[in-house]
Amino acid sequence: MIEKTNLDEIQNYLVDSSNLKGTCEKVLIPENLTELVNIIKHCYLNDIPYTISGGGTGLVGGRVPFDGVLISTEKLNGILDFDPQNQFVVVEPGVVRKDLDEFLESKGFFLPPNPTETNSFIGGNLACNSSGSRTFKYGTMRDYVLALDVVLPDGETVSLQRSEVERVRNSHFSYYLPSGKTIEFVIPALPYVNSSKNTAGYYLHKGMHFLDLFIGSEGTLGTIVKAKLKVERLPEKVIGFIIFFKELASALDFITKTKGIIKAETENGKNKAYISPRLIEYFDRNSLLLVSDDYPQIPKNVECAIWVEQECSNNDEEEILLSLWLEHISKFTPFASETWVATQDHEHRRFAEFRHLIPTRVFELVAKSNYHKIGSDVAVNDNVFANYYLRLTKMLENSKLQYFVWGHFGNSHLHLNLIPRNENENRLAQQIYDEHIIDAISLGGTYSAEHGTGKLKRKYLEMMYGKDIVQKMKEIKLKFDPKNLLGRGNLFS
Ligand SMILES: Cc1cc2nc3c(=O)[nH]c(=O)nc-3n(C[C@H](O)[C@H](O)[C@H](O)COP(=O)(O)OP(=O)(O)OC[C@H]3O[C@@H](n4cnc5c(N)ncnc54)[C@H](O)[C@@H]3O)c2cc1C
Repeated sequence: MIEKTNLDEIQNYLVDSSNLKGTCEKVLIPENLTELVNIIKHCYLNDIPYTISGGGTGLVGGRVPFDGVLISTEKLNGILDFDPQNQFVVVEPGVVRKDLDEFLESKGFFLPPNPTETNSFIGGNLACNSSGSRTFKYGTMRDYVLALDVVLPDGETVSLQRSEVERVRNSHFSYYLPSGKTIEFVIPALPYVNSSKNTAGYYLHKGMHFLDLFIGSEGTLGTIVKAKLKVERLPEKVIGFIIFFKELASALDFITKTKGIIKAETENGKNKAYISPRLIEYFDRNSLLLVSDDYPQIPKNVECAIWVEQECSNNDEEEILLSLWLEHISKFTPFASETWVATQDHEHRRFAEFRHLIPTRVFELVAKSNYHKIGSDVAVNDNVFANYYLRLTKMLENSKLQYFVWGHFGNSHLHLNLIPRNENENRLAQQIYDEHIIDAISLGGTYSAEHGTGKLKRKYLEMMYGKDIVQKMKEIKLKFDPKNLLGRGNLFS
């Protein structure tokens, strides 16, 4: 086991990508599972608070400790098994996402939910129930979990399967641990959340599996030490487009219509093909301006851009789909002829680099600023999204603040990034941030579609679900962690 106490050595572990800064006595880096379990048992017996760390790319301060010890999973990074016939991979929590993606790609497979930040660890992806651009078609990490091994706060390890036996049939959650102890509670009735993505608080639903409780629990109920994940075969071909729009209303209309024609089959000769994107991603004008020196081919005077991708089964289908898409695109924008098209791997990689450069440039601006980035993660129902976003845009334009919006618009999910330049702007940014979250919640949506609550968004958990439900969630946490040692400060104060 590696132990670090020197501040110079541990300071990188005391922050995450939200820039929240914490403190702890030491960082412990177990080199195998036995060491990890021993550390956890030691913490439990000696009442030492501990926080689990993945890659530290979280955006809500989840892995940032404020006391006790930080346990990094970085050395538990083995790909333990891969079964192409049965389409699964078994991994340890410290496997870096990009390493897993490269491994799977070399075997002709992929793990569909793809957080943009590929330096994240698979344990972090599971603890946050992360998603990403392809979630539009494929869902979130939860949809790919077949089994999990979790070390509970007292050091007991449980192996959980997504099987009928381990399904919670009614509202009574009752799990018998190997040690003979039982964890029991009544699943509270959460208010209905009217958006296709939501990671606010614990996942508590009748019909859930026991393992579902740990997915998205942000390191508060147990430490994920092994995961068996379903993987998909790589599609034969993928086509991608980055489309530029002169008007926001046309871009929003394009999204609605593109989703609407998913089922509208079009026949072309003997072949049938229909538009069916696997991702629909949005970038506002300010985001495009931020990377315009790197990409001079972005047309002048554009209002926004949308990136779409679709999978094709063969060359014939690719050809038909290319012309279907270009015809469809031409109905919505005068920049149709300047659409970027990707059909080859290296072109798709360039699109992904373009996508990644936008948040990277924003983080560079934040690093130069005296203020933190104020970043949101809201999602609402498709039916109300266009009006919701138009209202937000008006508010932002009037404010004269420095802002950037991008997001997974296929899921009616956006990230607003505000970077204040002085104290007045900081106050105004906080106000707009609050207002657009309250607006989303009042529409039945969520403040947390994929990033979680961590330490930075706790007040919105209560706003969304109410005091009573949050109290019940806290009581569930205490069933697993009666001494409140694990991931202190995440979700609950
Ligand atoms: C540029 C950028 C783009 C991003 N894009 C996306 C995106 O598209 N979609 C998305 O969902 N997120 C995105 N994120 C957020 C972040 O990458 C994800 O939340 C990611 O899954 C966090 O993983 P991590 O390993 O870095 O976790 P960390 O930040 O280390 O930890 C996150 C939380 O998980 C807990 N945790 C970590 N490992 C374990 C474990 N083994 N057992 C129990 N708890 C654990 C920690 O205690 C903490 O609460 C982005 C972040 C950045 C900086």
